[in-house]
Amino acid sequence: MTSVAEVLCAVEQIAPTRFAFSSDKVGLHVGDPNAEVKSAIVSLDHSAGAVHACQTKGASLLLTHHPLIWEPLRTLTDASHVERVVANLLRSDIAHIAAHTNWDCAKDGVNDTLAERLGLVDVTPFGTAATVEWRKIVVFAPESAVEKLIDAMADAGAGIIGDYRRCAFQSSGTGSFVALADAKPRVGLPNARNDVLEVRIEMELLANSVTRVVAAMRGAHPYEEPAFDLLVVAPKPAMPIGRKGRLSTPLMPGEFQRHIDRALGTRSLAWVGSDQPIEWVGAVGGAADDEWRKALDDGCQAFVTGEVKQHVALEASEFGVTMFSAGHYATEHPGLVTLASRMRERLPDVAWHVYEPEPGRDGRPL
Ligand SMILES: [Zn+2]
Repeated sequence: MTSVAEVLCAVEQIAPTRFAFSSDKVGLHVGDPNAEVKSAIVSLDHSAGAVHACQTKGASLLLTHHPLIWEPLRTLTDASHVERVVANLLRSDIAHIAAHTNWDCAKDGVNDTLAERLGLVDVTPFGTAATVEWRKIVVFAPESAVEKLIDAMADAGAGIIGDYRRCAFQSSGTGSFVALADAKPRVGLPNARNDVLEVRIEMELLANSVTRVVAAMRGAHPYEEPAFDLLVVAPKPAMPIGRKGRLSTPLMPGEFQRHIDRALGTRSLAWVGSDQPIEWVGAVGGAADDEWRKALDDGCQAFVTGEVKQHVALEASEFGVTMFSAGHYATEHPGLVTLASRMRERLPDVAWHVYEPEPGRDGRPL
């Protein structure tokens, strides 16, 4: 049996919450973490059509890109879209999870998928990133306990560096102590000075996993009173939201626009920044027109996003960046198809469906 909580864990593996921007609302919005999930629907939006699709397919989970509850609800009536959807989900025992900017930023997420659809090569991340608070734990232990300690702290979430896990540094030295008469030292003698060979273990961890990691360390440490330090390290940027890549054959703005429209099945708008061929392109799906300047700083000649405001189009094109407004749905929906396939790989016992609205319905334009 797969539970809503297990789905949340799988989402965390592929779209870590630490990637989400601070104002975002990701995670479980509606439902019981212990409820069973046999079938689920993945959708860009929490539209009435997506909820109806859950009901007709017997899906007990709706996983969307766009978060449902941004502001605290004061009422639960029929007066707004959000209230209607929440009430409808509750009535039908359907849970709702949102993976928003965390899935935009994640590897293979919305913007990796967009870059791939656009045929970009040599793709690298750029742009705005969440700031993540980290700590470092330093533990002193006898050599015989080192592997067990590192395993325990890694299982509790320490030692994550990018795509690497169980990252730890060890150095050897001498620890010395005098154990009082009531102490029960694992090594050495009470009421005497003891010098013992110890290993200093260092591991990084997210600030929000300190309690879990310290408990795991205490559980695995052989000493009555483990010696350890928790250090505050400078915050680090998480994975940035945008993707920068190269067109293997540079295209003129009009040619690239036709390429975008074919690749995404859309009718884009373009504001030309230069009459030179475009080689380097920045891409961020959805409403991300404010990322154009970071794309420019990163050497892009063009920027593709879902929605572009008039004054942004004007300014960016005057700064030499050709801007493409390719549609919110068209730039983000492909990333939801990828999300469903990643969830299918992680949780094959759940039947994962993608909700693709009819053109003109449920947030998908005609
Ligand atoms: Zn969006």
